[in-house]
Amino acid sequence: MSRIKIDVEPVLRGFVERLQTKVCVLEQELLPRSAGYLEGILPRGCWLVIVDAITHKIAGEAVVASLDAAGISNALYVIEAAEGEEVPVADDRKAGVLRDHLRASAEIVACIAVGAGTINDIVKMAAYQAKVPYAVVATAPSMNGYTSGIAALLSEGVKTTQPCDPPLACLVDLDVMARSPARMIASGFGDLLSKPVSNADWRLGYRLNDAGYSSDAMVLVEAGSALLEGVASKLPLRDVEAVGRLSASLCLSGMSMSLAGSSSPASGGEHLISHYIDMTHFAWGEGHDFHGCQVGVGTITTAAMYERLAALDPSSWDIEERVKALPSWASYEEVLRTRFGSLYGAVELHAKQAFPTPAVLRERLTRLKSGWAEILADVQSTLRPALAIREELLSAGCPVTFREIGVTDERARRAVVYCKDIRARYTILHLAGELGLLDVWADDILRDLHGVG
Ligand SMILES: [Zn+2]
Repeated sequence: MSRIKIDVEPVLRGFVERLQTKVCVLEQELLPRSAGYLEGILPRGCWLVIVDAITHKIAGEAVVASLDAAGISNALYVIEAAEGEEVPVADDRKAGVLRDHLRASAEIVACIAVGAGTINDIVKMAAYQAKVPYAVVATAPSMNGYTSGIAALLSEGVKTTQPCDPPLACLVDLDVMARSPARMIASGFGDLLSKPVSNADWRLGYRLNDAGYSSDAMVLVEAGSALLEGVASKLPLRDVEAVGRLSASLCLSGMSMSLAGSSSPASGGEHLISHYIDMTHFAWGEGHDFHGCQVGVGTITTAAMYERLAALDPSSWDIEERVKALPSWASYEEVLRTRFGSLYGAVELHAKQAFPTPAVLRERLTRLKSGWAEILADVQSTLRPALAIREELLSAGCPVTFREIGVTDERARRAVVYCKDIRARYTILHLAGELGLLDVWADDILRDLHGVG
């Protein structure tokens, strides 16, 4: 049987100049040939292969063997779990230690991250800070961060996303992908299924908050979406072709973020729900799940919010009444201090940036009311029904309720109602808040779709 290969080259051809990731290969039996793909991309000299105990076994050893066979000088760096961690967590301390190691060793000219989100984010940040080029060898199709220009790192217990350079090369061995834990495959699918609503949020922000929009980035997003057609039910079976298409779609999604210069193409309100779950997990030890599993649950929730938005009749809105209901920043700040407690410092800046003045709110709601049909049609052009998204997630083996991702009913409500203040970027959650409907919608959706209450 011939090797399965997912060719993303035709899609990327038009973007070669503008993407920092020059090589993206997805095929079976890739690891023994990894050196060949990296030669000519990474500078000649000693390459540091960065792994953790698990990724060393599943891919790192084979990468090193390939480099040795090709006569490429290399060294191994193992990222270990810190005290109190079961497995290594991506934080700025580990990235800092690796960065210092890179700066101190004159012979290392490039890094190869071998792992999934954790290893990739640590190496991406360290390599960026040490100004050393890097490549990634993926070990699970669990999220779209491989090729993005953002690293998600825990800093002082708070998850932050920081801009940095994407990898020069992304190598994906489809046999390794298909063998990865079922929950990680489900996570990758959940991360991508946010597209209908994250794009709607992107358009909403563009329409109502003058946020930037990149139609080029959408070309990659749409190409990635097309790859996902019909794969959901084959993922729990570990079908190599289906897992390969998922992996390719994740790579394209990451590149769309690089191209747009922000995570907007792939991250809307559903990601804020996931971020709230992460923040409260890391700060207070509350339960959590893989990123994309949380995102999938968030996606069902925000898709349902758009359905409630579409059912509104804007002709009956009293905009002045909404403007009058806007609290002062000082009183809202008190609300936020109570809501976020020890995490308030991490959200203050974002919340303040998103908080509208009366004039901004009046202008925004007037714009929405007068352009209702057109704006609604624009955001709906990408949306899908919440129940259809739920069905597709279910067939891919993804969790679909908050309880299934370790979030209690009370915390689920907190996540949906509080999370909009974590980031300034405009989403359906912000609009629901400004319309005075966020609490009611949250209660309805949690009851109808998550069995809460
Ligand atoms: Zn994501």
